[in-house]
Amino acid sequence: MATIVFDHITKTFVDEKRGGTFTAVKDATFTINDKEFLVFVGPSGCGKTTSLRMIAGLEKQTEGNIYIDDQLVNHVHPKDRDIAMVFQDYALYPHMTIKENLSFGLKNMKIDKSIIDEKVRYASTILGLDDLLERKPKELSGGQRQRVALGRAIVRDPKVFLFDEPLSNLDAKLRVQMRIELAELHQRLGATIVYVTHDQVEAMTLGERIVVMNKGEIQQIASPQELYAKPANMFVGGFIGSPAMNFLDGKIVSGEYLQVGNSKWPLAPALKQKIASYIGKEVVCGIRPEHIRLTEGDGHATVTVRVCEHLGSENLVYFSLNGTNTIAKVSGESFVQAGEEVTVSLQIDKIHLFDKTSQQRIG
Ligand code: ATP
Repeated sequence: MATIVFDHITKTFVDEKRGGTFTAVKDATFTINDKEFLVFVGPSGCGKTTSLRMIAGLEKQTEGNIYIDDQLVNHVHPKDRDIAMVFQDYALYPHMTIKENLSFGLKNMKIDKSIIDEKVRYASTILGLDDLLERKPKELSGGQRQRVALGRAIVRDPKVFLFDEPLSNLDAKLRVQMRIELAELHQRLGATIVYVTHDQVEAMTLGERIVVMNKGEIQQIASPQELYAKPANMFVGGFIGSPAMNFLDGKIVSGEYLQVGNSKWPLAPALKQKIASYIGKEVVCGIRPEHIRLTEGDGHATVTVRVCEHLGSENLVYFSLNGTNTIAKVSGESFVQAGEEVTVSLQIDKIHLFDKTSQQRIG
């Protein structure tokens, strides 16, 4: 069992250069379930690493309590938390062989040699390192080194694995490969994994649940599917998905229509009940590029194509919709040229509406 609870956690750093304080994590409350793969995602500086370091005990929270398996760990030393952390720079010992790197931590714990050998063999087999055990780190590729760093965590057989951007030093192809390996590893180990990344694709593919953070505050905790389909606010809507969600200023003119500039878009039945108090008011309409079509629909507008990027299986079409730069992601076979006039329509059941002031989801 390894459940982790953040109970009203705040972390404030004292800014020695400028004086004053800086709050890196604000009043975070959530539970990480046993055996869950939970990903923290958000832009640089939003407090992801600080959250991870507080779980590890490397950073002490300013307020609140952290529990691991119902045990309050506020004063438990990092080495007594039964947690292994894998960092982005691997931190391997350059003068030791891979085998020595894998066994070093266990030797320090005065564990029996036969048990160490068995654990090293287990880790090296599941990570495909068997043929590399006698090499030194500099004789390995980036991906292999990353696997050794993982192996060092696995041999310890911890309750919880913490990963801080472990794939960020790898090239794009290797990152995809390691991503798949990590997902498989999670299933095989059946351990609780907490993973930090600023890459939303990594978060969406690996996380069973994702914590989206911005400026120290949790914006939403949900499954990848839910974050995509029901972002809690404009930040999450814009952060998850690529290219990013388009935001268009609009007005709910009646219970039936959303007016965006000169265009009128009918509202999906599911939205109608939620917008009752917004009739006559301005709202923000969020629409993902993949939910704009280059055909007539329930409502449509005529636009001039600024640029069309051909990506093979799909095209990205850039245009201005009532003065707002907008992107549509369409099939690679929908061929349009810059300067061409095209008809666009929004998939009305995919429209997200946000409150203009609070930026929170209306529906
Ligand atoms: P990145 O993706 O860039 O690693 P992050 O989301 O992991 O970002 P954190 O490392 O958690 O961000 O940092 C959150 C904020 O706290 C940042 O603004 C950072 O500058 C600040 N911070 C982190 N550690 C300290 C420290 N020891 N002293 C002062 N400020 C700090």
